[in-house]
Amino acid sequence: MTHKVPFLDLSVEDPAHRQALLDAIERVLTHGQILLGPEVEQLEEEISEYCGKQEALGVGSGTTALYLAMEALDLPEGSEVIVPALSWIATANAVARAGAKPVFADINDELNLDPSSVQEHITDQTAAILPVHYTGKISQMDAILEIAEDHNLTVVEDASQAFGARRGNSPAGSFGHMACFSMNPMKVLPALGEAGMILADDPDHVERARVLRYNGIVDGVRSKTAGMNGRIDTLQAAVLLARLERTEDVIQRRRDMANQYNEALADIVKVPEEGPNERRAYYTYTIQTGERDELYEHLIGLGIEAKIRNPYLMPQQPLYVKKAQGEYPNAKSLVGNLLSIPCHEGMDEDAVRTVVEGVCSFFDGGSR
Ligand SMILES: *Cc1c(COP(=O)(O)O)cnc(C)c1O
Repeated sequence: MTHKVPFLDLSVEDPAHRQALLDAIERVLTHGQILLGPEVEQLEEEISEYCGKQEALGVGSGTTALYLAMEALDLPEGSEVIVPALSWIATANAVARAGAKPVFADINDELNLDPSSVQEHITDQTAAILPVHYTGKISQMDAILEIAEDHNLTVVEDASQAFGARRGNSPAGSFGHMACFSMNPMKVLPALGEAGMILADDPDHVERARVLRYNGIVDGVRSKTAGMNGRIDTLQAAVLLARLERTEDVIQRRRDMANQYNEALADIVKVPEEGPNERRAYYTYTIQTGERDELYEHLIGLGIEAKIRNPYLMPQQPLYVKKAQGEYPNAKSLVGNLLSIPCHEGMDEDAVRTVVEGVCSFFDGGSR
């Protein structure tokens, strides 16, 4: 089914942007360094600078970034890692794959890890906190970092959804000991395929992640640990370098649209506002309403491709449901209220108006 307003449009129509991507691919074809070519190093440098971290490591996906970062922490057996109950499942799975136990804490009304719930879930086994900047809004990092410092815990940001988001002058990825980004095609800084990035300051973290990234190889041939092949493709790095140049424009366009939505919809649903001195990246524009399912059907009927991004909390997934550890009452009550509506730079003013009218017609029309 084609939608009048698609949720996302990944085709590249803007001629200048299309040419920039083709030029980037041409350069790779010419130099021929397809694996770990110069674009990988350049991208790592530009991202680490953008995010205010010492080092960045390009990897094959956001999931790979999380897996390698958690493994690079080298957590003791039986460690617990506190994660928010609401996220894409890769967050909790990375903890499990590293041999640790995800402990599910609650979220606040902004859909991010609630620091007071983090505090309540700390035990002698707690080793790390893995906050997620859900929808592209930065978590309450001041409070989370304070708790971490008090208890000597490591903080890894799952910043997959928040490239370019800021609190004050601090960008997503600058807060934790390590940070992970996804650059999959739906994310704010998207590759033309799978890609991700790990950021860290501590040379030990960087080195362990680097060795794990390619089969545990230390000096070209000798393998030290059972790693994987988690390297980013040079082609994707080249694409991302071209796209990094327009990220500020992309985020600004999304924020402009979000402001239009906020003005039109704040009286009828809970909208994702920006706090003072805060910049959201608007990975998604996610509203909250008690009539989520009915509104979803209404919009789909109008040809507006709304999305229910995470219909289940992570601890409700089959993998965790029997043994999930943690309390998350607010997450349980909010997860059924969340609906993401189209908000991306490929939309024109007509499309924005169509979405606004669609949502409004549900609340003041006879469709309820
Ligand atoms: C997208 C995403 C991931 C995984 O990224 P991939 O690149 O798709 O593997 C992990 N965590 C969160 C919160 C995400 O949104």
